[in-house]
Amino acid sequence: MAGVIYLVATPIGNLEDITLRALRTLREVDLVACEDTRRTGRLLRHFEIDKPLLGYRDHNEAARAAELIRRAQGGESIAVVCDAGTPGISDPGFRVARTAVEAGVRVAPIPGASAALAALTASGLPTDRFRFEGFLPSRKAKRRAALEALRAETATVVLYEAPHRIVDALRDIAAVLGERTLVLARELTKLHEEYLRGTAEELAAECAGRPAVKGEIVLLIGGAEAADADGRAPLGARVDELIGEGVDRMDAIKRAAREHGLSKRDAYRILESRRGG
Ligand code: SAM
Repeated sequence: MAGVIYLVATPIGNLEDITLRALRTLREVDLVACEDTRRTGRLLRHFEIDKPLLGYRDHNEAARAAELIRRAQGGESIAVVCDAGTPGISDPGFRVARTAVEAGVRVAPIPGASAALAALTASGLPTDRFRFEGFLPSRKAKRRAALEALRAETATVVLYEAPHRIVDALRDIAAVLGERTLVLARELTKLHEEYLRGTAEELAAECAGRPAVKGEIVLLIGGAEAADADGRAPLGARVDELIGEGVDRMDAIKRAAREHGLSKRDAYRILESRRGG
C-alpha cells in the first residue's frame, strides 16, 4: 500500500504548541523530511522521538520532492516539517505537496501553529478577510512596488518581516499606504511576546528608538477603507453617505469621526491620506 505524506506543523516558539496528533504522526512515520536536520533533531529528541531525518531546502526541494514521492509510492509514510510552524507557509513544503498530488499520493495536513494566524487572531484587526503576503521584497524599490499593489486591499494584510528590515519596511508603509492601523506582533508564544499598535509612522519611530529590535515579527496592516470589526462603514464611505443625505461636509466628517471613535483631527488626517492615495 502506498504511504502518506504528512505535512506536520511544529511550534513557532513554545514547545507546548505541538499537537498530540503531530507527536503520534512523528512517532509512526518511517521518515521525517525537514529543513534543518540539527534543529528538527533537537525537537524530536525533546519529545523522545528517534527517526531517520532527510534534509530538504528551497534549493533542492524539487529533487527531494521527487525522492519523497517515490518512497511514498514504495509504501513509506513520511512527515514533512519545516524549522517552525506550518510547512509551505513562507517555507518549503508546497512543492512536495504539489508533486504528491500530481502523482496521486495521499497528502494529509497535521495542522498546528502558524505565525500568520496566531498574530492575526491576537491583533484585534478584522479577521473575517485577510491577505497573507509572506515577506515583502528586501530591496526598497521592489518593496514600495509591492506595497503599491496593496494600496486598495480592503482585507487585513499579514506580512512576515525580518527584524533588521522592520524600520525601513515601516517607513515605506507609511510613505505608500499612509494612515493605517498597524499591529507588530513579535516573538509570539515566547517569553518576550509583544504587540505594538499604531500607525506605520508611530511604529517606525518606536522601533527606531530602541537599541535593537530582536526576534521574529509578523506585521499586520488594517485594510484600506475596510469596514471595522463592528461592521461600521469605512470612514470615507460614511462621510460620502452623510453628504449624500444632505449633511454638509464639515458636519459629515464630525459625525463620522464620532461614530468611529476618532477625533475630528484624526478623521481629517485619515481622509487626507486616502485622498493622497
Ligand atoms: N512556516 C512558518 C509559519 O507557519 O509561521 C513561517 C516561516 S518563515 C521562514 C519565518 C517567519 O515567520 C519569521 O521571519 C517571522 O516573520 C514569522 N514568525 C515565525 N515564528 C514567529 C514568532 N514566534 N513570532 C513572530 N513571528 C514569527
